[in-house]
Amino acid sequence: MRLTRYFLPVLKENPAEAHIVSHRLMLRAGLVQQQTAGIYAWLPLGFRVLKKIEAIVRDEQERAGSIEILMPTIQSADLWERSGRYQEYGKEMLRIQDRHERDLLYGPTNEEMVTSIFSSAARSYRDLPRNLFHIQWKFRDEVRPRFGVMRGREFLMKDGYSFDIDAESGRRSYRRMFVSYLRTFERMGLRAIPMAAQTGPIGGDLSHEFSILAETGESQIFCHRDLMEMSMPGDDIDYDSDLKPIVERWTKPYARADDEHDPAVFESEVAPNDRLEARGIEVGHVFFFGSKYSEPLEATVSTPEGRSVPLQSGSYGIGVSRLVGAIIEAYHDDAGIIWPESIAPFQVGLVNLGPDKPECVECCESLYAQLNNAGIETLFDDTSENPGVKLSRMELIGLPWQLRIGPRSLKKGVGEIQARRTGENTEVPVDNLVERINTLLGRVSA
Ligand code: ATP
Ligand code: MG
Repeated sequence: MRLTRYFLPVLKENPAEAHIVSHRLMLRAGLVQQQTAGIYAWLPLGFRVLKKIEAIVRDEQERAGSIEILMPTIQSADLWERSGRYQEYGKEMLRIQDRHERDLLYGPTNEEMVTSIFSSAARSYRDLPRNLFHIQWKFRDEVRPRFGVMRGREFLMKDGYSFDIDAESGRRSYRRMFVSYLRTFERMGLRAIPMAAQTGPIGGDLSHEFSILAETGESQIFCHRDLMEMSMPGDDIDYDSDLKPIVERWTKPYARADDEHDPAVFESEVAPNDRLEARGIEVGHVFFFGSKYSEPLEATVSTPEGRSVPLQSGSYGIGVSRLVGAIIEAYHDDAGIIWPESIAPFQVGLVNLGPDKPECVECCESLYAQLNNAGIETLFDDTSENPGVKLSRMELIGLPWQLRIGPRSLKKGVGEIQARRTGENTEVPVDNLVERINTLLGRVSA
């Protein structure tokens, strides 16, 4: 992408309304623009990041056996009246009436709708287990929308729902999602810690919130240090195998958010040196709730013995748009964002530091063509602005690799590659630049 043809409205000044670093950087780097409280437009650069996150989430969902669907944002109030949540949800729900004065709502979540969709077709144990997910915009009229996209009113969520014949099988589905979440966040460069969470009247130990540590997190978390170091299930993970040992390994060490924290238990279970107390951002939530929605909605299936039983379900959320902010909280410095490669909007920023020098223009044009041919996502700063402006903008938007071509180095036949993360600069002969970038990106060069 050429910057002269792109839409990248970066801001010079720190926006006064942004109180935390991710919000500030998202506005400054032209990722989003606020439309009204808690509602954001995604600008091209931010939208690319959102899509990258979505793609990782989708990939890991599918790997774990979940099936993607797309449910509407607008729902009828009927199902919610049957489940009892139409009243219960209160002011967080955006209620709408159509021209026939029928009650609609902008979905804050989808348990009722997905239960109705699935049970309208599922007849027996042979149709189970299944896990359906979608990645869709939600609306919750939060009392205090704040921190940019981290607590928005309209936000993008991956929400998945499992359907099983009995509770034991439901727990297996829960464990599959639990393990897939560990992998999902790790692929974004995040260490998300599963913390035992409230299950309400159903009880049991089948609700976990996944949180990453960040100073600006909204909750206080207490956990065992080991959770920061434990190894992840690898690519060879078999979701049909017994995942209990993995889940037990991850749920054994103490980890709780403030609302579930018990200081006495924490102190008795965790030695002083192993205690980690920090702020956390919730990026995901897994919850097994049995027949909570299937009973009121009469969503039943028949067992092998011919009995009719309510579906056993869980729901599994990931805050896709919140993750953009959360990742910036984890990866930034004074100059700007430092995207992990897996979700960077572009892998390479090609900077022409001599736009008025024909040899620099020619060299950059050739490199840009080669990078495109190699399938490397490149943002090419081909503007005629001065080097200082170009370099600080590149730092601000945080692409993992910068490739700089300037008149002085070009005389020596080299260009410079700079790693955004370390600031390390390497001079590389112009003819080897693309190959080197390929190697740095861990790709096999052509
Ligand atoms: P919170 O306690 O932060 O309000 P929640 O318990 O209401 O979260 P869930 O209903 O479990 O959240 O939603 C699943 C995920 O969606 C959360 O883990 C979070 O990452 C994300 N999420 C929830 N509310 C918002 C919001 N207002 N803005 C952005 N993301 C959100
Ligand atoms: Mg909430």
